Amino acid sequence: MSLPTNRRTLLKTLVATAIGSSLPGQVVFAGEPAIAGRTASPAGTAAPIPWRNWSGSQHSLPSRREAPASLGALQQLLRDTDAPVRPVGSGHSFSPLVPTDDILLSVNRLNGILSHDTDSLQATIAAGTRLGQIGGPLEALGQALRNMPDIDQQTLAGSLSTATHGTGATLPCMSDFITGVQLVTADGELLECDSNHHADVFQAAKVGLGALGIITAYRLQNTSPYKLRKVTEWQAIEDILDEAEANADRYRNFEFFYIPFSGMGFTETHEITDDPVSATARFDQNDGADTLRKVRNWLEWSPRLRRLVLSSYMKTLGREEKVASSWQTYTSDRNVRFNEMEYHLPRELGLQAFREIRALVEQRFPEVFFPFEVRYVKGDDIWLSPFYQQDSISIAVHRFHEEDHAPLFQAVEPIFRKYHGRPHWGKMNTLKGEDFRRLYPHWDDFAAVRQMLDPDGRFLNPYLKGLFA
Ligand SMILES: Cc1cc2nc3c(=O)[nH]c(=O)nc-3n(C[C@H](O)[C@H](O)[C@H](O)COP(=O)(O)OP(=O)(O)OC[C@H]3O[C@@H](n4cnc5c(N)ncnc54)[C@H](O)[C@@H]3O)c2cc1C
Repeated sequence: MSLPTNRRTLLKTLVATAIGSSLPGQVVFAGEPAIAGRTASPAGTAAPIPWRNWSGSQHSLPSRREAPASLGALQQLLRDTDAPVRPVGSGHSFSPLVPTDDILLSVNRLNGILSHDTDSLQATIAAGTRLGQIGGPLEALGQALRNMPDIDQQTLAGSLSTATHGTGATLPCMSDFITGVQLVTADGELLECDSNHHADVFQAAKVGLGALGIITAYRLQNTSPYKLRKVTEWQAIEDILDEAEANADRYRNFEFFYIPFSGMGFTETHEITDDPVSATARFDQNDGADTLRKVRNWLEWSPRLRRLVLSSYMKTLGREEKVASSWQTYTSDRNVRFNEMEYHLPRELGLQAFREIRALVEQRFPEVFFPFEVRYVKGDDIWLSPFYQQDSISIAVHRFHEEDHAPLFQAVEPIFRKYHGRPHWGKMNTLKGEDFRRLYPHWDDFAAVRQMLDPDGRFLNPYLKGLFA
């Protein structure tokens, strides 16, 4: 008997879901990159399943994988074992925050909008919700996130635990939107934290690196739904740089990209508008990255010819506009994998640092083809936010995932550090605990809260042990 296609698809989905999420100890988290040789044990006998991050640069062999289906199940799990537990989101961090040989725990089954308040425009959202699952449902409730990063595959917990940010000189990182945190501690206790209850834990948990406990929900301060006009415009990089500071103050969201070895870049601006929606199709950056790689492959031997070819083409690209709901304009698809280093620098030093990095890359690294990304982020007061009391320019450099990122990142990082940068928690850097302690006035306060909540270090993996030793 042959099933109609839609029923076959449904059956396949049900079987895949059952295999993927219900065998004890063998949960393959949705969205995790495929790994050759990964098998789920047929009878539920647990053979460890390797974990790797989005780019493939971080990996480990957790002894167990867990994805509790309810808050109660999560509390019970923590009470039933005293083994170390490492929380994971969707594995989009490049830094070694997640790898563990012990229990890898995802809250991806705790997702969705749990409650909302129409007067205060606040909503409580389960921590395992992906950013891409928030915009539409939130809009239906009369709310919207104030800002978003450039992709929406991350979980809320992963994003907020690393101070994920978008761009906008008057807009802080997403962790600053938090007004309440629900967290399960190492002994399974549930803590509801805000500025009046467990205020120190609340302050620490806004950017908590997964080092304090398992976060199960956040209350966020949102805004009314809004539409944005997104404008993308190609220009010579010198013109972009000349106007960058003025544009950062002029537009709600302003950022720019530089294409190495081209002399050209493009700006992206967002402005709130009441104009009708013009397009909702998602922008896919894959074509662009693939084309840049091909040009690099052909013309790496001649920077002059490469610049001529790239700039001649880019000068024809001009300007594009789109009007859509806010959550449909911030993010795009990024499926060409890469590794990334991003530092947040004091705003007044950022463009000088950018010029230095550009010169270094174009003198020494002809193999680089990925654009540099430059964004503006407003300062905040969160203990471990890299934007702590610092309006910032964020500069990101990337290497294709199959190519060795180390030489480029090793060369660029001293420039970031010379200009007093703080690294993005989710991106590559070589800083040690003492370096962070010098950069963060509240480092010891955070460490004290961590020690109080988790004296046995159950939530620390080797990387975090190194930082908090
Ligand atoms: C293609 C790409 C584009 C990106 N774009 C941006 C961008 O525009 N702006 C930006 O700032 N960053 C960006 N990032 C970085 C990304 O936002 C962060 O690394 C983010 O932490 C990833 O979220 P995740 O859900 O994958 O979390 P993971 O990487 O899986 O985990 C991140 C941290 O969160 C902790 N964690 C996860 N769940 C919990 C929980 N329930 N309780 C406690 N702790 C938890 C983990 O232990 C870990 O410390 C990008 C990354 C990629 C790969």
